Amino acid sequence: MVNIPEIFGCNVFNETVMKSKLPKNIYKNLRRTMEKGAALDMETAEVVANAIKDWALELGATHYTHWFQPMTGSTAEKHDSFISVGANGTALMEFSGKALIKGEPDASSFPSGGLRRTSSARGYTAWDPTSYCFVKEGSLYIPTVFVSYTGETLDKKTPLLRSMDALSRSAVRFLRLFGNENVTRVTSTVGAEQEYFLIDKEKFDQREDLVLTGRTLFGAKPPKGQELDDQYFANLKPRIAAYMADLDEELWKLGIYSKTKHNEVAPAQHEMAPIFTTSNLGTDQNELAMEVMEKVALRHGLVCLLHEKPFEGVNGSGKHNNWSMSTNDGQNLLDPGDTPMENLQFLTILCALIKGVDEYADLMRLSAASAGNDHRLGADEAPPAIISMFLGEELDAVLKAIEEDGVYKTQAQAFEIGVNALPSFPKDSTDRNRTSPFAFTGNRFEFRMVGSSDNIGCPNALLNTIVSEELCWFADRLEPVKDSDCFEEEVKKLLKEVLKEHRRIIFNGDGYSNEWVLEAERRGLPNYPSVVDCMPHYTDEKNLRILRKFGIFSRDELTARVEIHLEKYSKTRRIEARTMIEMARKQLLPAALDYLEKLCRSIAAKKEIGMTANTEMKIARKLNELTDSFYDSINRLEKIVADACAIEDVQKQAEFFHDYVLAEMNLMREFADEIEVNMPSSCYPIPTYSEIIYNV
Ligand code: ADP
Ligand code: MG
Repeated sequence: MVNIPEIFGCNVFNETVMKSKLPKNIYKNLRRTMEKGAALDMETAEVVANAIKDWALELGATHYTHWFQPMTGSTAEKHDSFISVGANGTALMEFSGKALIKGEPDASSFPSGGLRRTSSARGYTAWDPTSYCFVKEGSLYIPTVFVSYTGETLDKKTPLLRSMDALSRSAVRFLRLFGNENVTRVTSTVGAEQEYFLIDKEKFDQREDLVLTGRTLFGAKPPKGQELDDQYFANLKPRIAAYMADLDEELWKLGIYSKTKHNEVAPAQHEMAPIFTTSNLGTDQNELAMEVMEKVALRHGLVCLLHEKPFEGVNGSGKHNNWSMSTNDGQNLLDPGDTPMENLQFLTILCALIKGVDEYADLMRLSAASAGNDHRLGADEAPPAIISMFLGEELDAVLKAIEEDGVYKTQAQAFEIGVNALPSFPKDSTDRNRTSPFAFTGNRFEFRMVGSSDNIGCPNALLNTIVSEELCWFADRLEPVKDSDCFEEEVKKLLKEVLKEHRRIIFNGDGYSNEWVLEAERRGLPNYPSVVDCMPHYTDEKNLRILRKFGIFSRDELTARVEIHLEKYSKTRRIEARTMIEMARKQLLPAALDYLEKLCRSIAAKKEIGMTANTEMKIARKLNELTDSFYDSINRLEKIVADACAIEDVQKQAEFFHDYVLAEMNLMREFADEIEVNMPSSCYPIPTYSEIIYNV
């Protein structure tokens, strides 16, 4: 039996360790830096560095690394040992304050968009003291931001930290309107439910597509899918249970509050949900959790697939980004509250979100855009690519009443909508809508569009920025009437105005239905099915305006980011296409031709002794036709990929990959999958869907 409190955070330089290892005044300085972002003086840094080193050595660390989140999509680390030259040929273990605070990795091999051309190739990493250091695999990990030498952001953490500051400033200002005088800091919070697949390593190794691209590029649908709903919350098979237990233990040791685990809808699909924390820590911990999930799987002879759509025709994986805001005096700002004033504050924040999500739906959409997620969004089990909000019947009725100066009715009672008689809302909203991309779930919003492999820094940074903008907008309008008697009336008037204009973003129906796509179009809501459709809108004037206003991105930083996303899209598709071509030429086509030859030999042999060979003839003819089409498609794909690679403009290139390369890939797959179902399994060279997803 694991003793959770005993092992929890044992590898983390957390609050408790800090308190016990640091002199009081040093601890106080560090706390000030953590809370207020005050610069850390060198003396404090030296003492902290030394204490962290001693602590890390006790845990068996020999090295330290700055740990950062470049635009590659994974985390990056470069390990230096604590070793230095001692007297008489001995070794000393040293770690300076400077080494803790700043590192200078070569930035030239990380994606930087256009920034590399405008600034020096050097970049530096800087310690982010708001996220804890930890020890893993013999190294001390120091969470850092990664910026170019001239200060432009090259990573996913910097914009998030900037957005958290912006949100805090806007929210504190906003809260003063409602008489909240004590709050000095507001922090955005996140709990990311992480979905994943587990498959057998032996099968994985036999599939070049899984190895190189994380998803299957070929594979006919298995006879059994998820139609029986027998996987969701099903009891855990021993091998899965052992994996999950091991995973929990590793996560706990790293200070991650892993809380919930269960089987998900698709066969071989599972979920882990931690307890929420600050957006910054939540993002770091999610990155770490994904890494640990993959590593622990290997110990169990399994492979953890984090791709958004590893198996066509089977549910994909997302990362439900549960988001809210907490004040430093302990209020959850999305908690409806008990008093009328709290209710009014809550409703105003809710309307700020409604306004923001409607005005910046494109930003929300592109915050979750990736080549992998393109296969998931709009497929029949994931939220559509259209942004809308779900509030639930109860809240919707309240808002309708505000809008129409009406009366709010619950089943039990009717309330006059006056501030003094606002109803208290149920804390646990029971009606859940699983098809909405952005759903209110009682005391937080759940953003369900985010892909399973994505870094959640970007969605949270953009969401924070949007909310900052809207809270400021409300503050601008309401500050002049703050102390007047008509304040509450003015608030209600404003809410009414906002609701009238932005009600279209609220949708409580079935987001998976085709009717919704048509209805959304009627409402004028944007529908961007792919990365290539939404990415250009990143730099739309209205978006650039708020991103600059709150210091999240400069124009150059944003342009660079768009370029990186588009380049990544094209590269992903190119790798996939080339993998398909290689598998087709080296494995699938030869296997089909071998079988065809076998059939032909059998036909000839049978004829020789006067037997009919009708069945063989039929199969052979069919396979012959299919292999012809398949072969033509391989050649076409090769040519189209070459054409795509010759395009210089990043947007045009990505569009070409989307419109032509992907289309040919899909066609080629149809031929291959048809060949697969017409071949005996003994002759088929790679494991089939059934063998992969039902075998653990
Ligand atoms: P469900 O699958 O029913 O949506 P889970 O329990 O799997 O719920 O996940 C809910 C997630 O929401 C958890 O990670 C939880 O910590 C998180 N959460 C709860 N309250 C907040 C909050 N105020 N801010 C951010 N996340 C929250
Ligand atoms: Mg869940």
